[in-house]
Amino acid sequence: MNTSMQPIRKIVIVGGGSAGWIAAAVLGSQFSREQLQVELVESEEIGTIGVGESTIPPFLELLQSLNIDERDFIQQTQASFKLGIEFSDWRVKGESYFHPFGTISAGMDETVFYQSWLKSRQLGDGYELQDFSPASVMASQKKFMLPQQAQQSPIGEARYALHLDAKLVADYLRRHAENNGVKRTEGRVTDIQCRQDGFIDNLTLANGEQIHGDFFIDCSGFRALLIEKTLGTDYSDWSHYLPCDRAVTIQTESTDTPPYTRAGAKDAGWMWRIPLQRRTGNGYVYASKFCSDDEALQTLLAGVEGKHLTEPHVIPFRTGVRREGWKANCLSLGLASGFIEPLESTAIHLVVRGMVHFMRNFPDRRCDAALVREYNRRMLMDYEEIRDFIVMHYCLTRRDDTPFWRWWQQMERPQSLQETLDYFAVKGELPETMDPLFAAVSWRSVCEGMGLRPQKYSALIDKFDPAVTRAHFERYLKAINEVVQKLPGHAEFIQKNCPHSQETA
Ligand code: FAD
Repeated sequence: MNTSMQPIRKIVIVGGGSAGWIAAAVLGSQFSREQLQVELVESEEIGTIGVGESTIPPFLELLQSLNIDERDFIQQTQASFKLGIEFSDWRVKGESYFHPFGTISAGMDETVFYQSWLKSRQLGDGYELQDFSPASVMASQKKFMLPQQAQQSPIGEARYALHLDAKLVADYLRRHAENNGVKRTEGRVTDIQCRQDGFIDNLTLANGEQIHGDFFIDCSGFRALLIEKTLGTDYSDWSHYLPCDRAVTIQTESTDTPPYTRAGAKDAGWMWRIPLQRRTGNGYVYASKFCSDDEALQTLLAGVEGKHLTEPHVIPFRTGVRREGWKANCLSLGLASGFIEPLESTAIHLVVRGMVHFMRNFPDRRCDAALVREYNRRMLMDYEEIRDFIVMHYCLTRRDDTPFWRWWQQMERPQSLQETLDYFAVKGELPETMDPLFAAVSWRSVCEGMGLRPQKYSALIDKFDPAVTRAHFERYLKAINEVVQKLPGHAEFIQKNCPHSQETA
């Protein structure tokens, strides 16, 4: 066996959307120019998908790991803060619920709190779960404060993410990556040549230029030029679990800047509203077997507020995942590697996860099969976990007012989801898995909003006196409300601390 190291000297990234520039920024920050050359090829003529405006808290960890100043980033990407998602009309029409970031624990151990709360509900108390979530309480009053600036109060337990302008994010990360030595090449890839062993050797651009690399990252979006068109890896189609396959989008002038994303259920899907500092992103995600593009457009236009800033734009997509996101000397990221509809804003996160798992399994030029297998196994787990969480939002519905919602009543759930729901219904916990993105606290919020509350509570809670628990709950609710009332409004907080930079307007 040849055990000598054959270090990768050059990585070529195809695509300059969020996926390509995240990959470039991570590589640029991890390796010196002498160690590793990174070249990113993108085509302005083809452009990027340009949506992807709502994130989840781990996105901020990416900024930290890249040594990016959060405030500068917010100002330059016209970002606003996100404390969670408001879901309306999902269980039945006319009801809404909130999925917040951060813990819900009333200052106790999270599990002990939830079990105590379940018991208090069984005893007839009327406490609402979300009244104990600092992020939910701030969101309900459209207030905001950075949790790290309120460590001594219940607000310290909140978490947040950002709403951002996808194009400005790609520009920002491009500057960051170029400053760290990443080379950008403008051009359209027209041909890809493989070696005899099936590894990719080089790309040819429309102007005839050839680009060689030891390793390639396919960030070419839904085109999947390298991973699918060249290496022929399969796509595992999940449309039997998630039938939405199109979105129509439009940007409008801001009329309101709440610190949360809105996801309103509609007749054949759901509509997002994402408030940025200077405009609002809107989109209707729908299933084409239940709704035409014209009907979808009408639904979208009826649901937006403010002057239109762009023309409506239809984006087709196919929910699923590439079983081998990494094959031979090619890693795929972003839309080239899979897509789950953006209900919980997880696509950019999956790009970051892809880079985390890739860096853990960073290969040499041989790309040992064990590393590739481990990466693919781990990414598939992430995708399946997120898929189940998204399906859960739909399949607990009581709506039967349209063919779309009736479809959900009879769909066959993924077995892994059914097992998780069965366990949750008994215990209010998740079966133990490695490192889930959506922890028990998220399932509790969404299940509660969708009407699934465990019927039993843990016997371990019976050692606590209900009167003492009640008094503790009352004190906590008083404290949280007193603090939140004094906080600035979200728009005011941004204006004072991180207003958008004029030059990006
Ligand atoms: P793209 O943005 O499509 O970029 C592809 C790149 O490849 C471009 O630079 C293009 O020029 C280049 N390219 C393609 N072919 C060639 C060629 N032949 N030669 C050279 N270059 C080429 N994510 C979230 O996290 N939150 C959200 O709220 C969210 N909302 C979404 C809503 C919708 C409707 C959709 C479809 C996606 C959403 N996403 C969201 C996902 C998010 O938009 C993508 O994950 C993210 O933008 C990454 O896209 P990408 O870089 O993989 O692809």
